[in-house]
Amino acid sequence: MAQLSRQGEDHMLETIATSTAYRRASRKLHPENTYVQANDVVIGDKKLVIMAGPCAVESPSQIHAIAQLVKQEGASILRGGAFKPRTSPYSFQGLGEEGLKLLAHVRKSTGLPIITEVLSLEQIPLVSAYSDILQIGARNMQNFPLLSAVGLSQKPILLKRGMGNTIHELLMAAEYVLYAGNNQVILCERGIRTFETMSRNTFDINAIPILKDLTHLPVIADPSHGTGNAKFVPSIARAAIAAGADGVIVEVHTNPAEALSDGEQSLNPEEFHAFMLDMEKISRAMNRTL
Ligand code: PEP
Ligand code: MN
Repeated sequence: MAQLSRQGEDHMLETIATSTAYRRASRKLHPENTYVQANDVVIGDKKLVIMAGPCAVESPSQIHAIAQLVKQEGASILRGGAFKPRTSPYSFQGLGEEGLKLLAHVRKSTGLPIITEVLSLEQIPLVSAYSDILQIGARNMQNFPLLSAVGLSQKPILLKRGMGNTIHELLMAAEYVLYAGNNQVILCERGIRTFETMSRNTFDINAIPILKDLTHLPVIADPSHGTGNAKFVPSIARAAIAAGADGVIVEVHTNPAEALSDGEQSLNPEEFHAFMLDMEKISRAMNRTL
């Protein structure tokens, strides 16, 4: 009897803890998977989603060529930064609105929905006018006014884990978006800072099954920022899908050596072709489709 009531008490405490933390993101209170929809692409269902494209939109010919490639190889969403969060103010900052216009232009020719980053509150209306999914970058994961503001938008949100943030903090960040009224949130593991120096970041593979267990939101992997090296991108992408991720976001460039940002981690056309064959195999092994 005493043991039963202790269990009942534990259950109640757990419910209170959940309800005061990420109550909207929690799978406990919402067991079914949430599907996020960007135009005709559904994220979080049986079909894996591949978001691919350059780190940054650089020129009309660059984004045209990459968009064609991405489409031809079977990816379903085109990525490309127009506003770039760069460590150095002297580095390429992105083409801004011009970049957004180029993205909208290639969306027309390829039919691929667009994902691009919104860096600040003031940019939300502009970026929303061109993009199908708003990306909140790792450096903004805990920009709470920005999270609340994109929560008021009707666009799907891709929320990247901060490089120094815990899984719990990622879920609390998602909670801000959900609480503001937008339940179209995709979570993204993109690697965290550790003592390891052989890779740009340490891709936290644990985060994938842990997030799938804790939340009903779709979870995708970014093996490009997670490793910082094109050579290791396919292995980590396969591992992430095997661990239960709903898709990947991957950087691709027709000429990585000349890329204005993140060239070292961008797949070239041959590598991207092989990558997509890998994704096809691993999707079948996981009883999913591509
Ligand atoms: C990016 O997607 O190019 C990017 C800047 O990602 P992150 O915010 O994860 O560093
Ligand atoms: Mn990048």
